[in-house]
Amino acid sequence: MTTMPAVFIGHGSPMNALEQNHFTDAWATFGMLLAPPRAVLAISAHWYVDTAAVTSMANPAVIHDFYGFPQRLFDFDYPAPGSPDVAAQVAEVVKPVALALDDHSWGIDHGTWSVLSHVFPAADVPVVQLSIDASKPIDFHVDLGRRLAPLLDDGVLILASGNVVHNLRAIDWRATDEGFDWAQRFDDDVRQVMMHDPTAIGSLAGSADYRLAVPTPDHFLPLAYLSGVAGARGVEPAVLVDGCTMGSLSMTSYVVGEVAA
Ligand code: ZN
Repeated sequence: MTTMPAVFIGHGSPMNALEQNHFTDAWATFGMLLAPPRAVLAISAHWYVDTAAVTSMANPAVIHDFYGFPQRLFDFDYPAPGSPDVAAQVAEVVKPVALALDDHSWGIDHGTWSVLSHVFPAADVPVVQLSIDASKPIDFHVDLGRRLAPLLDDGVLILASGNVVHNLRAIDWRATDEGFDWAQRFDDDVRQVMMHDPTAIGSLAGSADYRLAVPTPDHFLPLAYLSGVAGARGVEPAVLVDGCTMGSLSMTSYVVGEVAA
């Protein structure tokens, strides 16, 4: 079984599912360089709930969890299968952390499909999602990432999808591919930690820019899973693509492990 990388993607606007730009080009190139995985384990900012669960249905619903976007985005389909087997394997590998097997409440949300529509446009790789337990501190998520790392050796690609900087109230729709000073500064600080001591990601909560960059933890926490994987592997993540957009979003993405097949 080919060993897979783990990746954190800064997903930005749901419209990235339909658009093409230098961020989505980087996601597509990443997918083209991969040997086909057995499955994707996705950890999306948009399944942020008070419980730890993994989707276990054979045919997950495609969830359009946003408002105010064009109808063609609500019509967008990503009919990837699920995998009850991989879900059971995920629940096993994280023990003694207890994961609920969710066969009805969730599915594939836009944090996942807006990225996978570029990485695997044929929607032919099974997808399971892991929830982000909002009741837990950041080090719990780093530890869970560490526990998930053995799945990579069994052909499972780990996709964490969020944004290092994500402040929707501060968005400047005219600012294309630039970040406010505080956004760029926080993105740079995160890169320093990720490149040199990835499991210390919790220390960034003490940064002066944290409150603006991470007004709520949902988009930041997926990065903690990549930190945990990097810690388990004893390697530093590499930057897949970087930069800010709309002032207050960072699109910076990181990968752990070999990408080329
Ligand atoms: Zn999002």
